[in-house]
Amino acid sequence: MTMLHRPESLDEACMLLAELDDAQVYGGGTAIEILRRQGILFTEDLVDVSRIPELRAVETGPDGVRAGAMVPVRRMETDPAIRRAVPLAARTYGHVANPRVRNTATVGGNVAHGDYRLDPPTALLVLDATIEARSVRGPRSLAVREFFTGFQETALEHDEVITAITVPAQPTDAVGRFVKMSSLSANDWPSASAAALLTTEDGRRTLHLGLGALAPVPVHLSLDVSGMPTERAVSEAMAAAEPLMDPIPDVRGSSDYKRRLGLVAVREAATDVCEERTHA
Ligand SMILES: Cc1cc2nc3c(=O)[nH]c(=O)nc-3n(C[C@H](O)[C@H](O)[C@H](O)COP(=O)(O)OP(=O)(O)OC[C@H]3O[C@@H](n4cnc5c(N)ncnc54)[C@H](O)[C@@H]3O)c2cc1C
Repeated sequence: MTMLHRPESLDEACMLLAELDDAQVYGGGTAIEILRRQGILFTEDLVDVSRIPELRAVETGPDGVRAGAMVPVRRMETDPAIRRAVPLAARTYGHVANPRVRNTATVGGNVAHGDYRLDPPTALLVLDATIEARSVRGPRSLAVREFFTGFQETALEHDEVITAITVPAQPTDAVGRFVKMSSLSANDWPSASAAALLTTEDGRRTLHLGLGALAPVPVHLSLDVSGMPTERAVSEAMAAAEPLMDPIPDVRGSSDYKRRLGLVAVREAATDVCEERTHA
């Protein structure tokens, strides 16, 4: 029988996760409930962290955004201060499933889910976000770029709870774009996705790309595109991205089909940022 624990503090949550053998954190429950119904998840102890007030806090400022793990995905999409500070991330959160899922799914549960197809990690990778976690051993920070370690695997220990995600402010002169290709319906998981961010620093232009659904983990790459016309920058981006693609065939398409969609997503996202088009 499943036991739902409802700690009211982070210390209490960490103690429960340390003491219980096979416990899992319960965030918004959107992924957990499906896995339970499919008979894939058998955990007896669920640690619901929704009563811990600090996990719902959002701080925005010139350095960026720090969002508590229990902040709904929908808030990342709609909060005006978040949209101003990290527009690419806000737009990408807005592509997760549908409004009903986005109202319930949380920022922490999203990354902890560890699915290679998730939309938000593509933007979090290019923006170099950090995940904060806590356990009875204390707090630690993990770069999103090192968080996804394998198919459905993350660097999170079984007794750690994600407490917040920090996204550095998107430079005001940087241009971001997220492209999602879905083959079943617009609200569905992607067959391929790409986030692109073009930054300029000391005259050097760098194109950062985050790829979703195109390999067993979300992928990140950066290219120096200083002085390149759009066409060349885009073809170099596609050439650099293709060898990193290793799509998993499923009901949404064969590996070859997804690879081709991935190249289209990269081409579209890279072209738009090079041409300074930022529509969602
Ligand atoms: C119909 C449907 C369509 C979807 N389509 C998309 C899509 O198009 N794009 C996309 O990106 N995603 C999609 N998703 C996935 C969705 O993004 C995730 O289900 C959601 O983000 C998980 O968040 P949650 O808070 O509900 O996590 P939960 O279901 O509560 O938990 C998910 C995992 O994270 C762990 N966890 C939760 N919170 C924490 C925490 N604070 N610390 C440590 N571990 C934690 C849980 O133990 C569990 O392993 C879809 C989901 C559904 C149901």
